[in-house]
Amino acid sequence: MKVFDLHCDTITECCKNNVSLYDNDMHLSLNRMQKFDEYTQVFAVWIRDEMRGDVARQYFDEVADYFYEQIAENDKTVSVFGSNSETKVKAILSVEGGSACGGTLDGLTHLFNRGVKLITLTWNSPNEIASGAFSEGGFTAFGKDFVKLAEEYGIILDVSHLNRESFYDFIKISDKPFVASHSNADIVENPKGRKRNLTDDQIKLIKERDGIIGLNFCRNFLESDGFFGIDSLVRQIDYFLSLGCENNIALGSDYDGCSIHSDFIGVEKMEEVYKKLNEKGYRKALLDKIFYGNARRFFEDNI
Ligand SMILES: [Zn+2]
Repeated sequence: MKVFDLHCDTITECCKNNVSLYDNDMHLSLNRMQKFDEYTQVFAVWIRDEMRGDVARQYFDEVADYFYEQIAENDKTVSVFGSNSETKVKAILSVEGGSACGGTLDGLTHLFNRGVKLITLTWNSPNEIASGAFSEGGFTAFGKDFVKLAEEYGIILDVSHLNRESFYDFIKISDKPFVASHSNADIVENPKGRKRNLTDDQIKLIKERDGIIGLNFCRNFLESDGFFGIDSLVRQIDYFLSLGCENNIALGSDYDGCSIHSDFIGVEKMEEVYKKLNEKGYRKALLDKIFYGNARRFFEDNI
């Protein structure tokens, strides 16, 4: 089977702990991804909210260096998405927290030159661009210029972690298809879930723009009211399908970035999750879109 996952924090964690991307006991490792026919993974450099300016920019470079080192060391098993290499595992570099630009447009150009293909505009606090899910406020003047230039570069912009006000500002500023790389539907009775998940109106606007939404395995954004593990994912898929999102949902596992139910822990579980969903009556053509096809099409059309 094929997998295309829009978000994980694995490379940030590997770099922090000086752990190999190939061989580790984290949620995701290159050797455990080899059993799949294809596995394309977006790897985020996570910029913590206390990092701003040059500190954020330097931290980005440190993790991006590690990302490219790990790919070079394991070039028989992984390659950068879009290169000519025939490896089964393909890697895409992203940034979680636009502060990685150091608060300047030159910094954004630097991210582009280093191969960043997707930027999650904020984490949970305000930054130079906009305000995150656990804070107040909308886009800044700099944030508007940031969006325009990023779209000129063909960088995919990601609204996961924006608060509602910033989301609606973004809709007015941006005119390209965009993603919510790791957000669910706002049907989870949990204070954190309610802030990070998407309302019906947000989902409708993403769909109208031909965007995609990555289903997040994080317990806070998935579980409530007696729904746990695979059943909580089923609840999300059914809800998105009821809104006509068959071509708009994908995976955004959040591996190595949060607390996850054992049903989903580890890349090796992807096959089991697919099988369980198939047994629950979802046809393979639909599951193939969710696990791979929708995200693949989006990246081919928009990078
Ligand atoms: Zn996140």
